[in-house]
Amino acid sequence: MADATKTNATAVQPDAGTEAPAALTLTGLTKQYANADHPVLDGISLSVPKGQVLVIVGPSGSGKSTLLRTVAGLEPIQGGTIALDDQIIETGRPGSEKSGRSDRSSELRTRIGMVFQSYDLFPNKTVLGNLVLAPTIVQKRDKTQVEAEAVRLLERVGLADRKDAWPHELSGGQRQRVAICRALILHPEILLFDEVTAALDPEMVREVLDVILDLAKQGQTMLIVTHEMPFARAIADHVVLLEDGVIVEQSDDPERFFTQPRTERARQFLHTFE
Ligand code: ADP
Ligand code: MG
Repeated sequence: MADATKTNATAVQPDAGTEAPAALTLTGLTKQYANADHPVLDGISLSVPKGQVLVIVGPSGSGKSTLLRTVAGLEPIQGGTIALDDQIIETGRPGSEKSGRSDRSSELRTRIGMVFQSYDLFPNKTVLGNLVLAPTIVQKRDKTQVEAEAVRLLERVGLADRKDAWPHELSGGQRQRVAICRALILHPEILLFDEVTAALDPEMVREVLDVILDLAKQGQTMLIVTHEMPFARAIADHVVLLEDGVIVEQSDDPERFFTQPRTERARQFLHTFE
């Protein structure tokens, strides 16, 4: 892909000893909202290796959604860096609290996909219309080919027969599966999920989690925020516990994290789910 932003990018030194190269690297990421007297994210450093899944857990208000929104370019950062595939795509600027979005190119934005807790499908477009919009307009891809890919993606999530339905005709679980397809069709290098099952009726949670588990098996790089602990344990290659904007425990051995956490804080947090 032609990419003018790559020419003046700074390379990130890869960590010695990591097996897979990083898809996403955050270094000292600091975020403060306008009028707040302290940062909501305070020096977050983590990396997500290509083809792997990093799960972020933590109590409500710890900064999980803010973290995903900064990575997605929906919020400017005031310190640290965000790198995609070893290329720094954003550097914190002190004093940028008030600007609504980071000043990232639309080409860079499409390299990161995000699915939110609330169903954010366009209500006035059919399922197919929702899927073809960004690839044809932002990426200027051929409509016929994009439609064919949309149908293949819908088949993969069990919704091929709903391609002409309107969002209001779908269940919550179906809408979230369409939202996942809408993110996937842009071929993002990493997909971010922010509690995508939190607003669903219990019987629909499984069908959405199964789609995400399937993506993990196929090697899709993902950064996932979830309160579903058994799911987190099943899908994570790496796990981070966030609290008050700092990482209190992180582990490359999720099984160990969920059964024998190192910190008292992680023990207390996991205990609330028993
Ligand atoms: P989590 O997703 O872990 O529940 P959030 O990232 O939503 O946490 O919120 C972290 C903190 O930032 C909370 O104290 C919340 O009130 C505050 N916050 C979130 N969004 C905004 C905003 N747009 N403006 C100011 N403060 C915010
Ligand atoms: Mg949240």
